Amino acid sequence: MINEYQLRVLPQVAASMEILRKYVAEEQGIALSALKGVRILKRSIDARQRTIFVNLKVRVYVNEQPDNDEFERVEYPDVSQRPQVIVVGAGPGGLFAALRLIELGCRPIVLERGKDVHERKKDLANISRTQQVDGESNYCFGEGGAGAYSDGKLYTRSKKRGNTEKILRVFCQHGASTNILADAHPHIGTDRLPQVIEAMRNTIIRCGGEVHFQTKMTGLILSGEKLGVRGERIDVGDRSRVIGVEAEVTSNLHPLTSNHLKKEFLGPVILATGHSARDVYRYLNGAKIHLEAKGIAVGVRLEHPSLLIDQIQYHRKEGRGQWLPAAEYSFVTQVDGRGVYSFCMCPGGFVIPAATGPEQIVVNGMSPANRGTQWSNSGMVVEVRPEDLSCLMSSSRENVIATEDPLAMMYFQEDLERMCWQQGNMKQTAPAQRMADFVNGKLSYDLPKSSYAPGLVSSPLHFWLPKTVAARLQQGFRTFGRQAHGFLTNEAVMIAMETRTSSPVRIVRDAETLMHVQVNGLFPCGEGAGYAGGIVSAGVDGERCAEMCVAYMEKNG
Ligand SMILES: Cc1cc2nc3c(=O)[nH]c(=O)nc-3n(C[C@H](O)[C@H](O)[C@H](O)COP(=O)(O)OP(=O)(O)OC[C@H]3O[C@@H](n4cnc5c(N)ncnc54)[C@H](O)[C@@H]3O)c2cc1C
Repeated sequence: MINEYQLRVLPQVAASMEILRKYVAEEQGIALSALKGVRILKRSIDARQRTIFVNLKVRVYVNEQPDNDEFERVEYPDVSQRPQVIVVGAGPGGLFAALRLIELGCRPIVLERGKDVHERKKDLANISRTQQVDGESNYCFGEGGAGAYSDGKLYTRSKKRGNTEKILRVFCQHGASTNILADAHPHIGTDRLPQVIEAMRNTIIRCGGEVHFQTKMTGLILSGEKLGVRGERIDVGDRSRVIGVEAEVTSNLHPLTSNHLKKEFLGPVILATGHSARDVYRYLNGAKIHLEAKGIAVGVRLEHPSLLIDQIQYHRKEGRGQWLPAAEYSFVTQVDGRGVYSFCMCPGGFVIPAATGPEQIVVNGMSPANRGTQWSNSGMVVEVRPEDLSCLMSSSRENVIATEDPLAMMYFQEDLERMCWQQGNMKQTAPAQRMADFVNGKLSYDLPKSSYAPGLVSSPLHFWLPKTVAARLQQGFRTFGRQAHGFLTNEAVMIAMETRTSSPVRIVRDAETLMHVQVNGLFPCGEGAGYAGGIVSAGVDGERCAEMCVAYMEKNG
């Protein structure tokens, strides 16, 4: 017999399957010898009251062995002889697009400008060591995309657009813990993600697809073009269909001539290049491929001692104790008509340098699977819309950005990141300020110990952040401090700047076909296209783009 129950148990009961089994047997009056297995289907923590409970939905097997397969697996067929599709970018959008193409019988050719997920790690370590960022291999570029060295949080607010549970199952099929299928706030952890990503790549290759690292798309090949005498592309009329991409292979850089090997890859294109591929946005804009400026949110990473966050959220002096995970928080308020909110919280994590080129400081956060560091951080950001640019610029910038330019928000991001780099002594050392000092408009004389490896430099953020961002953050922090006693404190440090919360550009596509509004055969995908934010929603979007791309191929022969 198989039954399902909703339970409300103490954390120590939920933490051990053996104790949970005994608890279920006792509660439901089942002989322990008859209880063959208990499987947790859903798990969430209720920390609203002084006594903390874990809510569980469990499946109980009485006199029956639990089935071996905890989840439905996807069959990936051999596609080596099937029509090919070019997938640009091996982030979650591109990888899930590639896997879905295989399921649907197409052969994905994945192009990734960065290195494989393991090689990439060395370049990440180098950022703190050398204070330099490799423009092709960093926290945003390389196999696994921006999600590879992240927290691996796998929840998304948008359930409307696709099958988020399937994304989680595919992660499990490639080695992620099945806990992610049960947890209300699932996460994989930065130490586990690389193996999962590598397994996804191996599936693509085993089924006959290709994955090319250090291979950067430099342009689209459009049907109405011909090659000029010097190899240049000449527009000969109807440029309304993409037939492939041109790419540069940077691993084969000639040592004497610095020449990159040029290659062409033919097929319809799923463009999943992420929110940091500014060269791609510039190229598309130059090629007059329709783009729109999109609102973003900018601010700082805020880092507290994790014990303090645990004490606040679990309402007890000893913090999380032995049985609870590092506590999460989420804040949101409105100040003067714009959202101020916490973003991408990483309990027990690190703040990391996420720039993608020189003369930028960008910070972000990640955490390992055990969320065991002594810090908890999150982005604290203020919503900025394209129409806000003129007033923001007048306070933070001498040059004027044409606000109707589709790249206007990207230029704004670039300006902030450069300003931050200048404030950070022109290295990756990040400008920082204690939280209460910021709210009170005071420079911090010293800074607390931080997880940010390249180092911090004390800086008056209240003074040089764009006024409307600083003032809204100050007001937001006061509100959050009232909501959670002890949160607004000088034990917390603000680290500048968090600017890559989402894409500053939308590569405009048709809502039905997901194809670019002007260019057939081009499927802008994932976060960089402006249609996703986060690992799961990028994965869902990747799957949808693959489906629409296959439908397009069937219709067009
Ligand atoms: C440090 C960090 C932590 C994060 N933590 C989380 C989290 O915990 N949970 C969550 O949901 N989200 C998190 N995010 C956001 C999440 O990673 C992104 O939303 C997600 O990765 C977007 O997926 P994507 O495939 O659309 O783009 P990306 O992941 O950005 O992938 C784009 C890929 O395209 C490649 N590329 C770019 N240009 C080219 C080109 N010209 N040719 C070939 N390849 C190219 C890039 O190298 C990159 O690998 C985090 C992001 C960062 C940076």
